[in-house]
Amino acid sequence: MKPKHYDVLIVGGGISGTALFYELAKYTNARSLCLLEKYESLSPLNSKGTSNSQTIHIGDIETNYTLEKAKVTKRTAKMVERFCLQYGLEDKIMFSHQKMALGVGEKEVRFIENRYHEFKELFPYLELWDVEKLKALEPKVVYADKAQTKVRSEPIIAMGTATQYTTVDFGAMSEALADEAQKASDATTDIFYQSQVDKIEELKDKTFRVVTTKGDEYTANFVVVDAGAHSLFLAHQMGYGTHMGCLPMAGSFYMTDAHFLNGKVYMVQNNKLPFAALHGDPDILAEGKTRFGPTALMLPKLERFKPGTYLDFLKTLNFDTKIIKIFWDLLKDSDIRNYVFKNFLFEVPLINKKLFVQDARKIVPSLSVDEITYAQGFGGVRPQVLDKEKEKLMLGEASINPGNGLIFNMTPSPGATSCLGNAERDLHVIVDFLDLTFDEAQFTKDLIEE
Ligand SMILES: Cc1cc2nc3c(=O)[nH]c(=O)nc-3n(C[C@H](O)[C@H](O)[C@H](O)COP(=O)(O)OP(=O)(O)OC[C@H]3O[C@@H](n4cnc5c(N)ncnc54)[C@H](O)[C@@H]3O)c2cc1C
Repeated sequence: MKPKHYDVLIVGGGISGTALFYELAKYTNARSLCLLEKYESLSPLNSKGTSNSQTIHIGDIETNYTLEKAKVTKRTAKMVERFCLQYGLEDKIMFSHQKMALGVGEKEVRFIENRYHEFKELFPYLELWDVEKLKALEPKVVYADKAQTKVRSEPIIAMGTATQYTTVDFGAMSEALADEAQKASDATTDIFYQSQVDKIEELKDKTFRVVTTKGDEYTANFVVVDAGAHSLFLAHQMGYGTHMGCLPMAGSFYMTDAHFLNGKVYMVQNNKLPFAALHGDPDILAEGKTRFGPTALMLPKLERFKPGTYLDFLKTLNFDTKIIKIFWDLLKDSDIRNYVFKNFLFEVPLINKKLFVQDARKIVPSLSVDEITYAQGFGGVRPQVLDKEKEKLMLGEASINPGNGLIFNMTPSPGATSCLGNAERDLHVIVDFLDLTFDEAQFTKDLIEE
């Protein structure tokens, strides 16, 4: 039987794949779209609500973002907000919490004050909160004792807001994206579950054959692989992205028994450690209990809480002397070395909680070991990309576009926030390549903030 043919086939039903599926269905004249997902539901891995920090990273309290970067992230983060508002998903899957970046100690206090003045124009809603204000808004960050009688000894200040949407269940959002895609278009919008793509081949007529491990076959004019770390795995199979390797950085969380913090409290970040955004915030999927984390630990597998993928890890790491050199350069830095070692210990039973609490006390000085437990089943894996040509760890997302009708995307944090922006980038490539039309006016009206 001839395989079913599509204009565009997307591999991976996480937030990245469903965002592209939605944009193509709603705003282009593509006549047939297909989404292939390995597991039995959408977003079973990193986009699942319990796998990530649920934060819309707009750039206002992310202290590792420059103003230039924040201008870009603001645009894409607002697309998430506008999508949710368009379909009435506020207070269902998107929530508004108070949020802040907290500076602790003289140096960080000065940093936050300067940053507040620099970022105020881009984010006019930002406020500067001193100790007195913080006593009312988030008392646990102020006091050194549980009775809240003694203010912590170091100076503190925060920049923050209580007026913005901050939090999304990205797993639920991916379901909404897929649903709305299917409602928005009379084109074919097929989604097939339990369809693990095993092989992609370019055919003589410049289309692609996609084969699953079950032996099902599909053909398409354009294929986008949004399969997390497996995007690089499939790219390598086809001879693309061979200058890259993937380093899976797992992130875990610790949870309090009850409501603890009123909103998101992020800290001043170390620019050398892009995945080290330790914070505390209410978890929207755990009855508002506060989560602290994530930690960062290299894991020799590509998928958390799923069997296997050790061999896929080895293949995707693309190990050679250049990878050794990247690791060596990273570990030469004492900040990074200590961080890696400490995060390894955060996963070791019996000592993990004690050590983690020491770090989390920078946020809540009175936090005690008995107030938190390791959040079993929470967390995910960030597919950090190693660039062997530049001999560097890439700090953000990576996309391979050989220009022949294929795209492979790897999306570590904040990939969920940038899902609609990344999809827009790919949509333009697809529209040009397949000579489709794009309803830019409607797209802008719906998704782009003026
Ligand atoms: C601890 C942690 C905290 C984070 N916090 C945030 C945050 O607060 N805000 C934020 O914006 N981002 C955050 N992120 C990042 C965010 O979770 C990811 O960037 C995002 O979920 C990536 O989405 P994705 O669709 O690209 O990948 P995934 O969600 O990993 O989806 C990939 C999909 O592809 C499927 N797949 C894989 N291989 C195949 C195959 N061969 N065939 C078919 N399907 C396949 C998988 O089953 C999966 O459904 C965090 C990540 C972690 C780990």
